[in-house]
Amino acid sequence: MMNLQLDIALAKGYSNNSQIVKILTEHWVYKNSFCPNCGNHYLNKFENNRPVADFYCDKCQEEFELKSKKGILSNKINDGAYSTMIERINSANNPNFFFLTYSKQWSVNDFMMIPKHFFTPDIIIQRKPLSMTARRAGWVGCNIDISRVPDAGKFFFVRGAKCIQQEVIQESYHKMVFIRGKNIDSKGWIIDFIKCLEVINKQEFSLKEVYKFEDTLRVKYPENNFIKDKIRQQLQVLRDKGLLEFLGNGNYKKLWK
Ligand SMILES: [Zn+2]
Repeated sequence: MMNLQLDIALAKGYSNNSQIVKILTEHWVYKNSFCPNCGNHYLNKFENNRPVADFYCDKCQEEFELKSKKGILSNKINDGAYSTMIERINSANNPNFFFLTYSKQWSVNDFMMIPKHFFTPDIIIQRKPLSMTARRAGWVGCNIDISRVPDAGKFFFVRGAKCIQQEVIQESYHKMVFIRGKNIDSKGWIIDFIKCLEVINKQEFSLKEVYKFEDTLRVKYPENNFIKDKIRQQLQVLRDKGLLEFLGNGNYKKLWK
């Protein structure tokens, strides 16, 4: 069982708040998390100031970046330079992300992972350039908008101060890991399609119900003249991955929650 309390004794001797948060949350992740890809309980910390990521798994080489915040989990999470982030997503060398929130009493509220294959350019929102008087004038940062990530791509370890079992996390992670092997266009389609199914929000649904998203998808993919074909293709992709059952007569059953 995870201990949700951050070890505030480690903050002794530090006065800079962001430094304290970094020390406490990184230590908590190091002690309590595991790699959802392989189950390894020992995530190693990268040397400080390595720009790549904060943790890596030495069994399967997954890398993780940690974002921590006091209070509740918000949709928009501050990240680094916009152009760097987009470049990393397009070249598939972005890390997986851990998002952690903690209470006033230094106790973990939420701890969630979004795997790198659920990162598409449309979840990265460009911020206004820094003003000309700023030290880094003109610099453009970004926010990660996690409300644009489907629930199927959010893996909670702790949700509302309740711990989720490791087997449950790993099982749902493995169901969706096939997305990683897809190129950026197919990935975008699968993720958008999963989001449509989440809006339908039923275990069983019909082709008619998914066709209702034709217009929404056309706005997103204006160059595509065969949206319905594309929708049927996504149904097949998910069936081939064991995520959907074809019930016949244009009815389908979702095999994940
Ligand atoms: Zn691993």
